[in-house]
Amino acid sequence: MRVKDINTTDFVNYKDRSMFISSCFCSWKCCTELGLDIGVCQNAPLSKAPIKDIPDEEIYELFMNNKPLTQAVVIGGLEPMIQANEVIALIDCFRKNGQDCPFVIYTGYYPNEIPKEIDLLKQYNNIIIKFGRFIPDAKSRYDKVLGVTLVSDNQYAEKIS
Ligand code: SF4
Repeated sequence: MRVKDINTTDFVNYKDRSMFISSCFCSWKCCTELGLDIGVCQNAPLSKAPIKDIPDEEIYELFMNNKPLTQAVVIGGLEPMIQANEVIALIDCFRKNGQDCPFVIYTGYYPNEIPKEIDLLKQYNNIIIKFGRFIPDAKSRYDKVLGVTLVSDNQYAEKIS
């Protein structure tokens, strides 16, 4: 999978200790739809980082080397759904190796914008998606599914499988 970065120890995006994978691309919809500069997005600096193409088996080994402390994989900013095929291939690699850990995907899209991607992800067990745009200056909201506070109160997570 092409990634910007992998953090093997993340406590911020999910209730359990996670491996956090930063995806590579975004259309900057959260900013441009509101007429704002893309610099408003907290992930804007990440877009300048180089892309690394890491084999899925290598990411799986990285995860397994940190078990049992690391319990889940979170894939987030930039926008993972632009790389949905690569995300699905990574999940497929984990499942084929017998690893059924939660995969948490942070997308800025809403369900009606990505029905095909949701259907493909539902083939796999234990998938959680955080939906919704980042809205600057919105109220934050605690999300029970993730066990963390999301920055905008229009955002929510759902266990889809
Ligand atoms: S989807 Fe994520 S990376 Fe893209 S503009 Fe929204 S918050 Fe920023």
